[in-house]
Order: sequence, then C-alpha cells, then structure tokens
Amino acid sequence: MQSIYQYTYSELSDLFESAGLKKFRTKQVYEWLYQHDKYSFDEMTNLSKEMRQQLNSQFDTQLLEIAECQVSNDGTRKYLLKLEDGFIETVLMVHPYGKSLCVTSQLGCNMGCTFCASGLLKKQRDLMAHEIVRQVLTVNHDINEHVSHVVVMGTGEPFDNYDEVMRFIRIINEAHGLAIGARHITVSTCGLVPMIKQYAHEGIQTNLAISLHAPNDALRDQLMPVNRTYNLDSLREALDYYIKVTDRRVTLEYILLDGINDDLKYARQLAHYLRGLNVYVNLIPYNPVDEHLYRKSHNIDDFKDELLRLHINVTLRKEHGTDIDGACGQLRAKREVR
Ligand code: SAH
Repeated sequence: MQSIYQYTYSELSDLFESAGLKKFRTKQVYEWLYQHDKYSFDEMTNLSKEMRQQLNSQFDTQLLEIAECQVSNDGTRKYLLKLEDGFIETVLMVHPYGKSLCVTSQLGCNMGCTFCASGLLKKQRDLMAHEIVRQVLTVNHDINEHVSHVVVMGTGEPFDNYDEVMRFIRIINEAHGLAIGARHITVSTCGLVPMIKQYAHEGIQTNLAISLHAPNDALRDQLMPVNRTYNLDSLREALDYYIKVTDRRVTLEYILLDGINDDLKYARQLAHYLRGLNVYVNLIPYNPVDEHLYRKSHNIDDFKDELLRLHINVTLRKEHGTDIDGACGQLRAKREVR
C-alpha cells in the first residue's frame, strides 16, 4: 500500500477524483495530516465512515518508528529512525529564529568524502519522498510542535536522488500542508554540476548550499572524490549559472580541518575563487569522527578574519549537540556495525 505522504497536493486530488471522491476532500485530508497532526483517517471527523474505510484500504498513513533519540544540553535532538531495511538519522536543532530539521535523503552515501561519517556505509538505496516527509512529521509529532526550517544535509547526496528530493520539497512547501516556506528550505550538495543547473530552473525560492571544503583541485580531489568528475572550474561555472538564473545567493560550506585546508593561503585562494560570485562562506568546525584521522582546526578565527579582510562574506557555523553523537551519520554508523 502506498504512503499518503508520497503525493503532492495536485496528485492526491487527481487520485481522489479518479476514486470518485470530490476534490475538496483533498484539502480536508491534507489539512488533517499536515496542519492538525492527525495521522489516521479514523480521526478525520469531517469524513464519512465509508470514505474513511475507502481511504484506509488505499493509503498508508504511518509515521516512522523512533528507535533512539539522544537529547543534548543545547536542545539538539538526534533521532535514529527505523525503516523496513535500515536506520536513518534526523537531527533537530534549536536556533533563536526557530527549529530546523536536518533530514536524510539516502540510505548511506556513495560520494566518499574522506572526512564524513555518512560514507562509512555505502548507499543501499535512495529514499522515497514519503520517507523524507515522514522524518519531518515524526519529529513534529514527537516535539508537539512544527519545525520552521528544513535542511537537506543529513546522510546522502540529495542531487543523487534529485526527483524524490524535489518532490519532498514541494510536499512540505504546500500551502494546505506543512507550508514550510521555500526560503526556509536548504539543499546541500557536494557539487553535482548538471543537477545544480537543473535546480536553477525549478522556479522555487529554496536555498542552495555547496560543500566546497577546498579552494584548489589537488586538495579537493583528496577530500572529495566528486571533484575528479566535476572540478572547481566546472563547479564555478555552474554556480555562476545558478546565480544568474535565480538571482539567489548561494552558501558555500567549508569545514576547517586541522593542518589540511586551514592555512591562510587557502583563505586567499578561496577568496580568489569566489571573486565576483554572489555567495557567502559558512565555516564549519569539524566534528571529529572516530574512524577518520582529521581533527578540528585551531585556526578558525584567523581563517575567518583573512576572508573578511578580503571582503568575502563569512559566517561561522554554531556547533550543535557536541555532547551527543553529533557528526553526520555517526549514530547510524554505530547502530549498523553493532
Ligand atoms: N551530500 C551533501 C549533504 C550531506 S553532508 C553535501 O555534501 O553537501 C552535509 C554537510 O556536512 C556537508 O557540508 C558535509 O561536508 C558536512 N560534514 C560531513 N561530515 C562532517 C563532520 N564530521 N563535521 C562537520 N561537517 C561535516
């Protein structure tokens, strides 16, 4: 049976129509599910008994099972959620401006970034949109509140699962549903160039973040194998294209790794690479992963100051949940190898 969370509003309304239901029923059902947090047709009191039976026989409404939840002193909640064939992580972060959820887009990841815990487990499969939507609903239900922001920055490469991720975005953005504003949704990619260009034409005001982490090809080849396919020149060209088409500013993520990419000469190379692009740099303190040898940089403030001196917009990412298994994919990696 298909999960009801797989469908956009207009698809569901077509399905309802072909099942002999009036179109306005879609609005009622969507509002129950996404706005009133009623995840069972039997609780939808404005539907007749027959209608509820019919819907029960056609759609599954289950959320995901919470296998584990670690709560940090700063309010970060790291969830391990259970799918039929594995576990995924979803992380809730508390900010002054609201609550944001970092969702997983694939079961494992094939990008092979050498510093990342997610890639410790190779990709088993892509997630379907409903499995990403259900991460949001499961957390909303657990905290009895609706998250205000979503970042597709959990395990997986969202642009390696492009269609389902875009479907997910449209579903959570739907006005009769969760209505999470496009500007409150961010997709982060390691730099799949063709997909960046495609994303430029989606006609939705979501944010794009790029995991850059190195300002020259030799270094980026080492850290991120994807760079051997899409090098920095091709990435820059795609960013330029995206910014021209969408007129939106792009975030560039740069993890600072001790003695690897944190020398000030790299800050200068980075500034040179970014010259003329409407971007800002988000510096990320590295979250150490047991299986990898990298360490957190001691040079974060100087690196930031050097970029500022070169007139690059830069922010420093606040660390969340460092007292729990904070780094991407760590909780899951521990569970799967246990
Ligand atoms: N595949 C996508 C999204 C998942 S990774 C991407 O590459 O952007 C999300 C972000 O977390 C990326 O910027 C990634 O490089 C970063 N990241 C991975 N492991 C990390 C760690 N141990 N500490 C800090 N950031 C990490």
